[in-house]
Amino acid sequence: MEEKMPAVETAEKEVVSKNFIEQEIDKDLAEGVYDHVQTRFPPEPNGYLHIGHAKSILLNSGLAKKYNGKFNLRFDDTNPTKEKVEFVESIKADVQWLGADYEDRLFFASDYFEQMYECAVFLIKKGKAFVCDLTADEIREYRGDFKTPGKESPYRNRSVEENLKLFEEMKEGKYRDGEKVLRAKIDMASPNINMRDPVIYRVAHMSHHNTGDKWCIYPMYDFAHPIEDAIEHITHSICTLEFEDHRPLYDWVVRECEFENPPRQIEFAKLYLTNVVTGKRYIKKLVEDGIVDGWDDPRLVSIAALRRRGYTPESIRMFVDLVGVAKANSSVDYALLEYCIREDLKLKKSRMMAILDPVKLVIDNYPEDQMEEVEVPNNLENPELGSRMVPFGRELYIEREDFMETPPRKYFRMFPGNEVRLMGAYFATCTSCEKDADGNVTVVHCTYDPETRGGSSADGRKVKGTIHWVAAKTAVKAECRLYENIVDEEKGKLNEDGSLNLNPNSLTVLTECYMEPELGKAQAYDSFQFVRNGYFCADCKDSRPDHLVFNRIVSLKSSFKIQK
Ligand code: ATP
Ligand code: MG
Repeated sequence: MEEKMPAVETAEKEVVSKNFIEQEIDKDLAEGVYDHVQTRFPPEPNGYLHIGHAKSILLNSGLAKKYNGKFNLRFDDTNPTKEKVEFVESIKADVQWLGADYEDRLFFASDYFEQMYECAVFLIKKGKAFVCDLTADEIREYRGDFKTPGKESPYRNRSVEENLKLFEEMKEGKYRDGEKVLRAKIDMASPNINMRDPVIYRVAHMSHHNTGDKWCIYPMYDFAHPIEDAIEHITHSICTLEFEDHRPLYDWVVRECEFENPPRQIEFAKLYLTNVVTGKRYIKKLVEDGIVDGWDDPRLVSIAALRRRGYTPESIRMFVDLVGVAKANSSVDYALLEYCIREDLKLKKSRMMAILDPVKLVIDNYPEDQMEEVEVPNNLENPELGSRMVPFGRELYIEREDFMETPPRKYFRMFPGNEVRLMGAYFATCTSCEKDADGNVTVVHCTYDPETRGGSSADGRKVKGTIHWVAAKTAVKAECRLYENIVDEEKGKLNEDGSLNLNPNSLTVLTECYMEPELGKAQAYDSFQFVRNGYFCADCKDSRPDHLVFNRIVSLKSSFKIQK
């Protein structure tokens, strides 16, 4: 199966601008703006992380490493409505698995609620914040739009004393949700709508996963985030492009709260992948509708799903490095990710024999009850992996497609009269086959040449085909799951009604696969090359010693060439 050529252009183009963040950091260090580098990854614990987040994690932790600085993991848990402890745990596990080392620097924005509250009081005292009684709808209306300047709130000129009293009452729970908010007093005529007296605190009578019922006022993201960065002495607050318009507000908050050495925000483009689904809304629906097997279904690109599929941290790191950091949004072909996992596994994994679509092969001149072991190299490209002994006997399984009764031209595998090599074992000549009433081949017969042990003949006779096999007597039975992308961009990702246009062939389950006995020992996440069939990984959820399940990570071939 040939894969289509991915858009190399993207990777190429982005490599050029790869170091723009590093250039900025170099400049800041040279000019003495900062004397160290401190970065962070700030997820909201409201879902599972995906490949896009991996980019942000590796970018931030990579910069810290490169500049001998530090990297924090900080949960941006300021919105109690959507957050769950389950997500906190999964995110921690994902970040660690990727190898982003936050050492002992695991933080929660909610641990800073007190300081954020003090910052708000400080702003009120400076005359830079006010309590506003307008409803959410009215605030929106007053805000104006790109063409119309905003209108000032009638509550804008409350005295500092009144504001302090009202904010205190908000905190004490005197008001209902939405009844009052605290707003920054900036500029209702600003061309940047984010600067038109944004709401910085709201009343929300809600339990928080960390602070419980201690607070009934919660800071808004745009106010909380810069304060979190400043408290942690972050130097470079790296975020995605959609926050570019928020940067003036970010700067306003750290300046007006009078933090020393305020952090600096730098934006980069989000990573988008073709033919995958990353939107939380869509994935949630796929999970709820039972179309996928949870958030870690191997067809998804959450980090948990990639790990379950058999991707390695190294392959994801390689992918992120190849894609680079860009200032303009673009999509990267999924095939680049596949290229990276192949590259990573190529020299590391043993090449094993597994038959996915079996048909029996009987060697009629091989002694009835005899079994022997043949030596097979583990990895032809990496002799360091050594070799192993594989049992061989009279009855074998071979791939159904490795036999044809009437072959087309250039078919060098088994057909009556043709001699092939049974990989690592002997030459064998196909003699005949048996068929059922429907004409399906049930058994293939052959004879072997005992003089060709090891797979070569003393008389210099050559064969054109080599086929892999598994001895029937010692075979372990297993299930293999083959995947295709869950959506196909070329056919359109969405239907007219906005639902996902799903690929009906995204999962193929093969329940009767036969493997060499060594594979019976596979533990969760162990991965292998299966001769001709691709790279496979033992499933962490469903594979058990008495019911092995392997996920195909990726097929062996791709036409993708990386341009350096
Ligand atoms: P939400 O819609 O819930 O905010 P999110 O994907 O932005 O979803 P966050 O937890 O806010 O989730 O993201 C954490 C960090 O990861 C942010 O700094 C964000 O900019 C970054 N990030 C999110 N998606 C991508 C992406 N596709 N590529 C690179 N970075 C991303
Ligand atoms: Mg976000």
